[in-house]
Order: sequence, then C-alpha cells, then structure tokens
Amino acid sequence: MPKEKMLVEAIQNGIVLDHIPADKLFAIVSLLRLQQLTTPVTIGNNLQSARQQRKGVIKLSDHKVSSRELDKIALIAPEVHLNRIQDYQVIEKRQVELPHEVYDLARCPNPKCITNAEPMRTHFHVATHPEDGTVILECHYCGRKTPAEQAELL
Ligand SMILES: [Zn+2]
Repeated sequence: MPKEKMLVEAIQNGIVLDHIPADKLFAIVSLLRLQQLTTPVTIGNNLQSARQQRKGVIKLSDHKVSSRELDKIALIAPEVHLNRIQDYQVIEKRQVELPHEVYDLARCPNPKCITNAEPMRTHFHVATHPEDGTVILECHYCGRKTPAEQAELL
C-alpha cells in the first residue's frame, strides 16, 4: 500500500486534513485549538507530495470539524483537502470550499471601522486575488481589504 494512502486510512473514524501547505500547518493547528483535544491527534509536516513541494497532514480521530472551522481553514489555505473516515473507509473527500461571505469570523483591522466601535457582527466579502490567488477579505462596512492570512480570526 502506498504510504500516502496509509496516512489517510490509518484512523478508524474521524477526519484527515490533507495537502496543507507546510508553512500554514501550525496556523491551522492553532485555529483548530488542537492542543485542547483529548482524542488522538496526529500531525505531520514537510511530507513529500506530488502536487506540492512539502505538505502537512492532520489526522483527528473521533473528532469533527465545524463548518465555521472549515471556513477559517479555507481562508488561510483554500488548497486543503478534507477526508472523512468511517470504519477505516474514506466516505468523503473534497477540497475545502471558500465561502463568499463570512460573518463574525475575523476582526476588521481598520480602527475607525464601525464594527470596532459598536457591539455588532463583522461581515466580510471573500475574494481571490486574480494574480497570486491569495484570499482577500473586504469589510462590508468600511471596505478595508486584508489578506486573509494576516487577518485576526475570531
Ligand atoms: Zn471594516
């Protein structure tokens, strides 16, 4: 069995986040608060990949990732693939989906923005930079554009 496949199939139930760019692995570990989990967690980085130079993989046994967490992952690393594992079988395999809009997922970096003065939800429109493919958040209220990688996620 190819090693690549073993990484995915070695857990009985849970999820595998695959094709994580190596330089974004620990940002995703942090946003998923994996240090707080008591269920088995396997983290690999700088693994060989056909499509990327080096990649990271996160395996979470008996754990689910919420749609809100998946949205955050997509903002940071839209190339990540999600595999759902049940009884050692991959029952779902797909790339994370970049949302068109996000609510209360990030803070607006503009200190004068109304969302930083009033107790209200933040709202961003999500776009992809046409040249380098980076994910951009545009504040619905003040129009400030921020690369998602640099945004303070909530
Ligand atoms: Zn704003």
